[in-house]
Amino acid sequence: MPAFGNEINVAHLPYTAEVKAKTDHLYPLVKAFIPELEWELQAPYIAAINDLKATKNAVILAHNYMTPEIFACVGDYQGDSLMLAKEAAKTDADIIVQAGVHFMAETSKILSPEKIVLIPDLRAGCSLAASISGADVRLLREKYPGIPVVTYVNTTADVKAETDICCTSSNAVEVVESIAEEFGVDTVMLLPDQYLAKNVAAMTDIKIITWAGSCEVHEQFSADDIREIRAGNPGVVVLAHPECPPDVLSEADYAGSTSGMSNYVKDNQPNNVVLITECSMSDNVALENPNVNFVRPCNLCPHMKRITLKGILNALQNIEHEVVVDPDIAKKARRAVQRMIDLPMKKGQSTYSHIGKPEVMAIEARG
Ligand code: SF4
Repeated sequence: MPAFGNEINVAHLPYTAEVKAKTDHLYPLVKAFIPELEWELQAPYIAAINDLKATKNAVILAHNYMTPEIFACVGDYQGDSLMLAKEAAKTDADIIVQAGVHFMAETSKILSPEKIVLIPDLRAGCSLAASISGADVRLLREKYPGIPVVTYVNTTADVKAETDICCTSSNAVEVVESIAEEFGVDTVMLLPDQYLAKNVAAMTDIKIITWAGSCEVHEQFSADDIREIRAGNPGVVVLAHPECPPDVLSEADYAGSTSGMSNYVKDNQPNNVVLITECSMSDNVALENPNVNFVRPCNLCPHMKRITLKGILNALQNIEHEVVVDPDIAKKARRAVQRMIDLPMKKGQSTYSHIGKPEVMAIEARG
């Protein structure tokens, strides 16, 4: 058995009989995506990571946008960022490794302040989270006094700390309506994703002020892309994420969050489907739906793809890079996240069928 002390060389782990014995049961999970020769390069890292998790009482949170060998072979919990953070808070693990991006690791730390939270690559950021700061939110509050602030979970702890309540794409409509009712107002700030805000605006009578942020992956999709996909794949069912522009959603058969799309495929088993979202999501949903054919338009998130097996092994072996959140900020941010978790969801998942016009009252930007 390889020694997992500082002497381990994560750059060169051999595919031994012991590694084979430890990983053979995992290969069928990812065989459709990973050729055998490539598997022999990956399996040693998978074996080493799974051994280290047990030794160090660690869990790995694998976001849906991770590549299949991470998602299926080393992830202990799989899902969207909030679901992962909630699951992590319930475990008795000492260490959480976030196979995702930095704001997700912060959310895990906010909900599990007593645990060590590691991110395998500090460069794993997010265009949405980087678009706005806590200072920006404070300025918006001065400009729009009395208007409640809802922020998407794809934000830094600093921004969450300035927020009345967080939301995800699966509950944004309900969160906006409930906070408006609580404050007795007809206008809400929904930050920082302008496309999510427009897609929510189409589903509610509440007026929305938003921010000029966007997801660099989802904003690349266009309505023309969808029409081309339909022309090339007659009968294909199109599912789109609400971080896409509104004209993309209006071309889709269903629009909903990461978990909404995953559930749609599981429940409806379409013959042919395309997920208008990050590329690895299709691979990971396909793992659980072998009878469904997936058309794959490939937009990769460069931040998510910074997370690799080698990086995860290094994080576990050397306990790096630890994600720390200032306790005062964490306390305020936790209140905004917890408020969302505690909100009773009357309608279940938000879906975005564009009942009204996707128009917002204002799109603010840094001055
Ligand atoms: S896919 Fe978009 S929202 Fe998700 S981490 Fe990447 S840039 Fe951020």
